[in-house]
This record gives sequence, structure tokens and C-alpha cells, in this order.
Amino acid sequence: MPVLQTLKGEVPTNTLGFMLPHEHLFVDLRGPFAPNYGEAEPQAVARLVKPYLDAIQAAGVTAFVDCAPVGVGRNVEALKYVADLTTIHIVMPTGVYKEGFIPSEWLNLSAEALADLWIRDLTEGMDGTAIKAGFIKVALVDNGPTSIEARNLRAAAIASQATGAVIGSHTIGGRAAREEMDILEAAGQNLNRFIWIHAHTEADMGIHLEAARRGAWVEFDAIGADPSLDSKMVDYTLNLMQAGYGQQILLSHDAGWYEVGSPNGVPKGNGYRGYTALMETFIPALRSRGATDADIHMLTVTNPARAFGI
Ligand SMILES: [Zn+2]
Repeated sequence: MPVLQTLKGEVPTNTLGFMLPHEHLFVDLRGPFAPNYGEAEPQAVARLVKPYLDAIQAAGVTAFVDCAPVGVGRNVEALKYVADLTTIHIVMPTGVYKEGFIPSEWLNLSAEALADLWIRDLTEGMDGTAIKAGFIKVALVDNGPTSIEARNLRAAAIASQATGAVIGSHTIGGRAAREEMDILEAAGQNLNRFIWIHAHTEADMGIHLEAARRGAWVEFDAIGADPSLDSKMVDYTLNLMQAGYGQQILLSHDAGWYEVGSPNGVPKGNGYRGYTALMETFIPALRSRGATDADIHMLTVTNPARAFGI
């Protein structure tokens, strides 16, 4: 039976219900070269994020994937503290963020050497703890992949094939997605262990279909950020379902979070965005366009469990 590798250990995926595959509890968008990078009092993080976790726990969410890798503030201690305050199973990644956010000691490593570090995160534990990463997160700059990002993709492919963990890549637009899928396939990666994160940034639904045909997971993960984008993501979701690729769709908010460097951790701009729009507005919109109970179960329970199960 596949398991989710969570902050509190392994959880068989067949015990899970509603799951959010791309969210955030804690980030440091200043990057790894900023003073006091990634630092915060776990209690202060919990004070900010817990009401939002309580809301989705009450609404039936059972699992939550935090998508901040090394480079944008991955903080195992803070998230473990938060995980102990909720029944929701929380998953954290290994991997690294895009060029400009890669720690200097990783810049000159081979793909194989970097993969060894990530495999250790996935099989032994992260940052000196026994807490295992649950997937591999990488990222591309908007006109990527750059050459070091291609190295990261090859490292991700090695680590995925060694462990079974899925790769998720922050990818803006279909051209970049095509190029990275080529790199991953050349590295022997079966794209059914690859998630195109932020696929809604590509408006050409033909490219969503192309990625799905190649086997990839297609993730629409800006739900609740903007009503007009929500209505497009409803179209994108139904388009893939009608073409027979409903089993490769992931839906999430990419919301949150405690932000290092902001007063009390509240994100600058519009503040903390919660994690309920999928249930409250997006699913009703899908239903009004004909989605059935079985479809919703597939999109919110079965699919994320299959994507992240190891
Ligand atoms: Zn994200």
C-alpha cells in the first residue's frame, strides 16, 4: 500500500480523504542569502497559521502538501511544531527552488551528488531530523529552464527513480513545461511521476492536453486568488476531464503563509489567503457544469493520494 511521507510519519494513502496538493505554511521569499534566512519562532508561526488549518480540518481536509523547498525557507522545525497541533497530515518536500535561490554550496554539484542529498532527505530525514521529505520540488525561472535548473531536473529524476517520490516543478507556461518534460524523459523519468505545477499559467488548453497525453499530472493551483482565473481553471479542468484525463488533474490554492521578513509573518499585499475556496466555490462551480460526486472524489481524494503516494 502506498504511503504519504508526512511530518508525523508514514500514512497509508487509502486512509486519506480530501487532500490539498499545493499549499504553503511558511516561506522566506527573500532567498537563502538574506540575513536570518528561514528563521522564525515556531510558536509565532503556529499562532498565525493554525486558525486557517483549523478551518480546513473542520471542513474535512485530511492532508496538506507544503511546497516550500530549500531556497524559499523550508523549515522542518517550525512545520513539525505546527503539525503537532492538527490532525491534518502535512507533507514537506526535498529539492530546491529556481535559479537565484539555490544555496551556494549546491551550485557546483553534479546531478548525481545533488540527488544523493535529496535521496537522503526522502529515505532518512531532513536537516538532521528523522522526518522524511514526501516529494521533490523544483522550480524554473519564467523563461527557464536555465542550465542549472536542467541540472536540478536531472537530479530530481535520479532521486525520483531511486525512491518513487513524485517530482513537482514550478513552471510558468507551456513552452517551459515542454522543455522540462523533454529533459526529464531524457533522464529516464516516467512522466506519471511528474507534476506540472502552475499549469493554469498556460492558456492554451492544447498544451494541457499534450502534457496529460505524455503522462504528466496537470496542476491548477491558484484557486481563490482571482475570480476570473477561477472560471478559466474550471474550463481547464472540465476540458481535461472531457478528453479522458480527469485522473491526472490536481487542484489547490497555493495559498497561505507565514512570511519571514514581514511584520508578524503576515504576507505583504493582500495578507494571508486561506485554503477553503476549492470547497466553497470551485467545486460548486464544477458541479454546476455537470461534475458528479465521483468526479469530485477523484479530483480531491483519489488523485492527490495517487500523485503523492510512495
Ligand atoms: Zn507554491
